[in-house]
Amino acid sequence: MFQYFMPVELHFGKDCLRKKGMVIRNIGKKALIVTGASSAKKSGALGVVEEVSAKLSISSVLYSQIKENPSLESIYEGAEKFTENDCDFLIGIGGGSPIDAAKAISVVAANNLKGEEIYNPHNIASVYPIIAVPTTSGTGTEATPYSVITSGDKKAGFGSPKTFPKISFLDPAFTMTMPEKVTRDTAIDALSHLLEGLYSSKRCPLVYPMIMSGIRIIYTTLDKVLQEPDNYELRKQLMIASLYGGIVISQTSTTLQHSIGYPLTTKYGLSHGLANGIVMKHIMNLYYPYVENELDMVFTHLNCTKEEFFKWLDKLGFNISLNLESDYIAEAAKQIYKSRNMALNPLKVEVEEIEKILSRL
Ligand code: NAP
Ligand code: FE
Repeated sequence: MFQYFMPVELHFGKDCLRKKGMVIRNIGKKALIVTGASSAKKSGALGVVEEVSAKLSISSVLYSQIKENPSLESIYEGAEKFTENDCDFLIGIGGGSPIDAAKAISVVAANNLKGEEIYNPHNIASVYPIIAVPTTSGTGTEATPYSVITSGDKKAGFGSPKTFPKISFLDPAFTMTMPEKVTRDTAIDALSHLLEGLYSSKRCPLVYPMIMSGIRIIYTTLDKVLQEPDNYELRKQLMIASLYGGIVISQTSTTLQHSIGYPLTTKYGLSHGLANGIVMKHIMNLYYPYVENELDMVFTHLNCTKEEFFKWLDKLGFNISLNLESDYIAEAAKQIYKSRNMALNPLKVEVEEIEKILSRL
């Protein structure tokens, strides 16, 4: 049995926002535009959003305080700005951080939430509409209902069928300014999502063609993009793979492959994609006997062995040793064990197994 629910209106391609932006006409009258410090402007996306808004007589307020791994404080500050200015919808521009923040601000403002109430999907009775304009090729958040927010040393996601963006505009041209490290790490985040579509106990065969195609794009294209960052066609391929990853996890959700990286990000400041890349081999080895057919299908599709795939990851720079201290390992493993994604692993994973993986990093 499987199910599929994808309520996002997606526009993909060069200049899609300028050409199709009129579809936001009836979404609202005043937008809170949510961004990070500089990428929305640098990528060109903010300029086009402002141009389209002006044409449609939509007014806006800019909230550009979102940092990587958005904090709960920034969400409440953004919600205050949204309410004070009588906004009625949100436009998130950037990587996963600002777009996830736009989703979270929408939820807080619409439901008058406090503190960590945001993590409980039962508190989401309604939302303000969310428009997403991604500038990275990684999270796929433009096609998922999830938002990942950090509260103190806890990084965790939430989502409900209501928190899918209403409309997303994916223009690969907005990703051309990504620096090398962001390009690499975000692509590996997308690869994690695609693999997790095979790992998750909520596997959905309908998206298998996307999984196979997306994994192949990343395996065959990422090295080239890193060498030719100005190549639009290659950037476009990566953005397609990232979108596939988002569509996949919107149906299957994620697993230990994702939750094990969260504390590494909060404690050591590793980017989300880097954390995913460092644990990828270890998780694949743990899951392999339980999803052997699915993973063998991947390796056949890539025309490589598991060992060759691991060498490719190493060459990209994901064979970093963290040498975590034993006290930290015990504490992090307990936290990871409690995370929601643990319910979807292809096998029952005990806390000792998580400790073992952390001690190998
Ligand atoms: P990000 O944290 O949004 O951005 C990383 C860095 O890249 C920032 O410094 C950002 O600058 C910069 N950047 C973004 N686009 C750029 C561009 N086109 N040109 C130059 N610089 C650019 O990165 P991300 O990996 O996309 O998002 C990670 C977050 O998403 C994590 O919190 C992760 O947990 C979450 N996530 C969410 C989902 C989901 O389904 N919702 C799935 C996976 C991950 P600025 O600060 O100036 O913007
Ligand atoms: Fe991710």
